[in-house]
Amino acid sequence: MNEGFSAKFCGLDACDCGKRHEQLTGSVEVADGAFGQLHTHIAAFLPEGGKVLYIYDGAVGAAQTVKRLLTKKYRAAEFCRDNMVSDRKLIGEIRVEEDVRLVVCAGGGSVADVAKYAAARLGLPLVMCGTSQATAGYLTASAMLYADGFCEVYKTAPPAVFLLDTAELSDDGTLNAAGFGEVCSRLTALFDWEFAAQARGESYCKSVEKEALLLICDLIKRVENAPAAARPALIAKSAVRLSLLMQRMGDSRLMCGGDMQIMHALSMLFRREARAFKLWGENEMLVSQVAIRAYLALLESGDMGFQPPPDNNLRLEAMGEYLGIGPGRAFKKIQPYISYDELLTISHCVAECREELLFKLRIYQKILLNANRIFKRLYKDKGYSYNEYVGAADLSLCIGLAPDVREKFTTLTYMKQLGLLDRYIA
Ligand SMILES: [Zn+2]
Repeated sequence: MNEGFSAKFCGLDACDCGKRHEQLTGSVEVADGAFGQLHTHIAAFLPEGGKVLYIYDGAVGAAQTVKRLLTKKYRAAEFCRDNMVSDRKLIGEIRVEEDVRLVVCAGGGSVADVAKYAAARLGLPLVMCGTSQATAGYLTASAMLYADGFCEVYKTAPPAVFLLDTAELSDDGTLNAAGFGEVCSRLTALFDWEFAAQARGESYCKSVEKEALLLICDLIKRVENAPAAARPALIAKSAVRLSLLMQRMGDSRLMCGGDMQIMHALSMLFRREARAFKLWGENEMLVSQVAIRAYLALLESGDMGFQPPPDNNLRLEAMGEYLGIGPGRAFKKIQPYISYDELLTISHCVAECREELLFKLRIYQKILLNANRIFKRLYKDKGYSYNEYVGAADLSLCIGLAPDVREKFTTLTYMKQLGLLDRYIA
């Protein structure tokens, strides 16, 4: 059987990269029976009989378990939605009385994002109960929310306490696949991080890179060999570990690869067209491979010469027409041109380490291909319905708009600046 893991707050010495990779969440418990410790953790913030704001997903069985436990000793003002969507408008509906001293939440990634943002807005600490293996976003100090149709990332505080009871996870092929996809797809973000370091001198941490790679490869190996019943807990533990690693990194680099840029565009496109969007990690598995293929094509061709500069007017129009983004917001999001001189310097740096980057990219692609094979087997239908889910035209448009919906510098951003992405926008 799987063993649980727990991580207490620890201040680390400065890393070789110059940062202190501190864990900010005081207590992280992922184990069979972890929800049994809920009262002990709440007692650090609130006397018995005190009042909490309880944000939860009514469609999630484990959230009812948490509610039963919670209301045994505390009063709860409830905010509940079935299949909660991480929309900023929802948070405006949350009203609390003065005697509420703590936010407790239970659910998957969307509930976590709503709760993190709400707690930050109310200035209250957050005790988070994770109920899903499908997200790696629980512990980050940010919330991804839709605001007027735009997918945006907001800074928040991380949860003060995180509990995930592995006995409460549902053994569901889709959730397993999504969690597995969330973890494995970070290879693309890892590459983009290194690319940004080489191309523009961004800070980079070899220790974090190593830890992330080990975590991903370890999960792939374990999921392939584990009995089916052990998968939900295995995947949940890796997803939470990754989430903790991202918290300790202290920046959003592992959440901001080119794959994530494409994901933001894709999620907005599906939302705009009211099409059923698969879980984030399911999409990520597909999109991260697409990004890696595009990067390989760029670096293998070695052609970093200049095309005509990117057409930002074309982007402004496409964001309005296909994603439904108003001109004001689109105008603010579209990334300005990098100067010719700066682009020349970047291209020079990229050319210098091209072989090194290619070497790494080919390894990452191999790992991802292997992961994709296992990923499909996690579904009951062996991934049959996953094929043909996103059309080539949708994907093409989202690649073209990707660097302008999420502003981090990635390999895709560089490709846009070279004028290589315009042809993807119909
Ligand atoms: Zn470091």
